[in-house]
Amino acid sequence: MNMIFLGAPGAGKGTQAEVVCKELNIPAVSTGNMLREAVKNGTDAGLAAKKFMDAGELVPDEVVIGILKDRIAQDDAKNGFILDGFPRTVAQAEALESMGVKIDKVVEIDVSDEAITARMSGRRVCEGCGNSYHIEYKPTKVEGVCDACGAKVVQRIDDKPETVQARLKTYHEKTAPLKDYYQSRGKLVTVQGQNDIAETSKLVLAAIKG
Ligand code: AMP
Repeated sequence: MNMIFLGAPGAGKGTQAEVVCKELNIPAVSTGNMLREAVKNGTDAGLAAKKFMDAGELVPDEVVIGILKDRIAQDDAKNGFILDGFPRTVAQAEALESMGVKIDKVVEIDVSDEAITARMSGRRVCEGCGNSYHIEYKPTKVEGVCDACGAKVVQRIDDKPETVQARLKTYHEKTAPLKDYYQSRGKLVTVQGQNDIAETSKLVLAAIKG
């Protein structure tokens, strides 16, 4: 099953993708995580992406489409995958179609901008494996240390309040039109994501199975 998790930054796509991946035994493909890795490793894609990411803007389509295409061609994605944070523009959705990638379902996780702004200040990510946490809703067992890999857990530069506002604006302008795009193709299901993680996971799993 090939799925897209759609939603504003901070709506919980990454966290929910991790839950569903374990349940269905398919990989979560996060372009944000891949781009952060590319920045860390100083690759060409990373160099091209950094200034956009730090400003809360979208990385150019051709950069993101390139890394996504390579990733979903890998063996572990043969039986399906969850795309977390891709596509983010109509051009990216069209690129998926022209690659011949069939999407079974698009799960939109809907959270108000106000709730997102409040949430983002507590979000933390692992510098090593990219796992995400929240100081209140999903804390690490040991403060500042990733449960999964033991690396340091930090606040992302782009989770600063002013950058969060820029990312929300980008989302409404560039990414929200994808709701109509997938609705008209009969793929969109919308789940309310303002409750706690476990509650949202139940809704997401029900939407996928339904
Ligand atoms: P995320 O972790 O998904 O919130 O992504 C972090 C940042 O990476 C975004 O604010 C963008 O700058 C960039 N990014 C991630 N995915 C995409 C995408 N599909 N298209 C363009 N930029 C992206």
